[in-house]
Amino acid sequence: MNAPDKAFSLDPRIAEGADRLEPKVVAWRRDFHQNPELGNRETRTARIVADHLRKLGFDEVREQVATTGVVGTLKGGRPGPVVALRADMDALPVTEQVDVPFASKVRSQWNGQDCGVMHACGHDAHTSILMGVAELLAGMRAEIPGTVRFIFQPAEETPPIGEVGGAKVMVEQGCLQGPKVDAIFGLHITSVLGTGQVGYRSGPLMASADDFRVFIRGSQTHAAMPWRGIDPIVVGAQIVLGLQTVVSRHMNITKEPSIVTVGVFQGGVRHNIIPDEVKLEGTIRSFDEGQRSELHEHVKRISEMMAQAGGASARVHIHRWYDVTVNDPGLTEWSAPTLRHIAGDANVNVVDKVCGSEDFSFYQKAVPGFFFFVGCTHPDRDLATAAPNHSPRFHVDEACLKHGMKLLSALALDWLAANA
Ligand SMILES: [Zn+2]
Ligand SMILES: [Zn+2]
Repeated sequence: MNAPDKAFSLDPRIAEGADRLEPKVVAWRRDFHQNPELGNRETRTARIVADHLRKLGFDEVREQVATTGVVGTLKGGRPGPVVALRADMDALPVTEQVDVPFASKVRSQWNGQDCGVMHACGHDAHTSILMGVAELLAGMRAEIPGTVRFIFQPAEETPPIGEVGGAKVMVEQGCLQGPKVDAIFGLHITSVLGTGQVGYRSGPLMASADDFRVFIRGSQTHAAMPWRGIDPIVVGAQIVLGLQTVVSRHMNITKEPSIVTVGVFQGGVRHNIIPDEVKLEGTIRSFDEGQRSELHEHVKRISEMMAQAGGASARVHIHRWYDVTVNDPGLTEWSAPTLRHIAGDANVNVVDKVCGSEDFSFYQKAVPGFFFFVGCTHPDRDLATAAPNHSPRFHVDEACLKHGMKLLSALALDWLAANA
């Protein structure tokens, strides 16, 4: 990587381009917001993206990557390396409660349940920002030393049950190949930062996310004759408490934090029946791959052994979802001056780790990557009470769109210039 005293050669063009394109980006974002699509169903969004990239004269536009993903390649007029920029396109099963003229009225099905659909995580903003960056960079392609790969991925929030999708499948289907990507950048808008603010962190930034299910098998009997059976509800309650000791008694918390939460406890149909089986479901979060494996072992052992102690049995299923989102330290150190140059020193700060997760981690496993946060809460609003991402009241200050466009464009251009 390069020294922090780098040049910011093209930034007047970035500022001019971002000003010029802002109304278009706002219009795209409102259109996507009003027409949100769930994971692996982003066909309308993908078509708009692909048409846009083709109209800009991209060298290659691949569609239907990982079901609905779009991968565009823009070759600059001068030789150089390949940098990738990523946006996610999917919305969430959330019924919108924001009072804007372009609020979503869309309804759909999520895992068999009727639901509203809303861009409650801001992926509408990410997609339109990256479309804006595509137009901005296409307009100066003759001067670009290298190639820019634009990755528009589906299903970041995970696809419906029974489907695969998102970044992992995008990588498997070659979105970082042909020509091979050397570094990747991505952003996420967030309600916890004010518009104009940027948050970043070197190393582990967002947690790994795995879910677990525990099926506790007892023996059904009359609730008034518990000695005739084995009560999986009491055993389940003991397991829930036992799982509280995983982090507090077994993990080295001075290394990294971690979380084990039980979110579902299901069993029984009547007050006077002890059921045969109870189901627990929960999530495991960590910031270190070694600790992640340890957590899995403890969850499994405690569940099985406590069930055995109660005369019951437990089957434990753990599904690995997303890896830890780890910012490459060298690339992070290199990126920070560009962020400060665009946003201003006072507006760029190191943030705490986030226990949410991101499938941007799958790109970072393949190539050095840098993921950062862009504030989207209007400065007049209180950050502490602004509705968070995933809330039906999540509200985006659209000034963040131009800001995001400048930051991503600058990172791509500076990185290519520095590594050409
Ligand atoms: Zn989200
Ligand atoms: Zn998101």
